Amino acid sequence: MTRSGADAISADWVLPVDGPPIEGGRVRFEDGKLTEVGPGRAERHFADAAIVPGFVNAHSHLEYSVYAGFGDGMPFGPWIELHIERKARLGPEEMLAIARRGVADSLASGITTTADYAFSGASAAAAAELGLRAIVYLEVFGGDPGEARRQFDEKRGGFPESPLVQIGVSPHAPYSCSLEVYQWCLSLGIPVGTHLAESANENEWLEHGTGPLAAIAHILQPPTALRAVATLEPVLGPDLLCAHCVEVDADEIALLAARQVRVAHCPRSNALLGCGIAPLADLRAAGVVVGLGTDSPASAPSFDIFEEMRAAIYAARGRERRADALLAGDALTLATLSAARALRIDAEVGTLTPGKRADVTVVSLAGSPYHPVEDPAAAVVFGGSPERVLETIVDGQTRYTSEESIKWREVRSTASAARRRMLAPRQ
Ligand SMILES: [Zn+2]
Repeated sequence: MTRSGADAISADWVLPVDGPPIEGGRVRFEDGKLTEVGPGRAERHFADAAIVPGFVNAHSHLEYSVYAGFGDGMPFGPWIELHIERKARLGPEEMLAIARRGVADSLASGITTTADYAFSGASAAAAAELGLRAIVYLEVFGGDPGEARRQFDEKRGGFPESPLVQIGVSPHAPYSCSLEVYQWCLSLGIPVGTHLAESANENEWLEHGTGPLAAIAHILQPPTALRAVATLEPVLGPDLLCAHCVEVDADEIALLAARQVRVAHCPRSNALLGCGIAPLADLRAAGVVVGLGTDSPASAPSFDIFEEMRAAIYAARGRERRADALLAGDALTLATLSAARALRIDAEVGTLTPGKRADVTVVSLAGSPYHPVEDPAAAVVFGGSPERVLETIVDGQTRYTSEESIKWREVRSTASAARRRMLAPRQ
């Protein structure tokens, strides 16, 4: 089901995010752009619901949508080996089927833009096909820029251009890519995203060449005698998006802020992999632009942005021992406007503002413990879930509704078949 041309929807609440909530609000859009946001009622009215900006996911791996629970509780070395072994069983069609499911789950969670780090590039094709806005950072690994270029070109060649999908590049991490590879990536003039300071294991390998990462030394870069942030110091700048930043001390936070590095905060993934709790309050206080990311079911264990917003609140309040360390409204901003700023696309998306793209999510509040509504942001963040997403609109087109369609059933069952193959006993 898609709509185009002029359209309007209304609900009990509209939360523009860049301004106060509007009770009895209406959103109009035309040719993919928002034209009016204010009080009013449309023919299509959602009772007991809130209209919010489409969520912006600052870090995902759509190609790992069916990896939930693989190696849960294992130490990092064996965990990553299991993933590599299972991933090697997949062909290109299965990678695409899994990425399609990642897109379906994202849209079902009200996500309209994702920053996806892609191992194969299949997520670019899946996002374009199913209508999810995406920056797809094609992953490269190793020490040799020529080899990184070969990997990038191979992944880049596999799919057509799309107006919704922008291509970037992802030098994987400071322990798996050399500085020369980072420099080559940054010379391309496209979005660049990496993983940085995700775990103490990463710092231990880089500083001393020891710890759990030593188990996969054959696929890593040699130790640098420096911590992760210091290892990347020569290339840290405003063109770099860094996922995680859990193991960062006060001086490193100051450096990230001074260099205008942007950060994707993934609290569920960091907790479940036993990596820790990122210093969100300190990063934000230092002026670092931080967006919220779900990471992938390989660690997180879903693309549920509502769970991620709640996890961000639990983690921040628990770490700071303060109930106001992260308010519901702040969490909503982290998953919309701040994430759009982290991806440097806030001129286009992230708030309900006339002139921006018509990326809109409708969340039912009916029957939730937060209804009748006292604080609409709290109702969405604490009471929301993918089951409560009624409609997801990208670029003015309805890309998901809560009425389960044959299309989504097929997407899910094809992806499940690929997961079954990965779980089969080794031959
Ligand atoms: Zn990641």
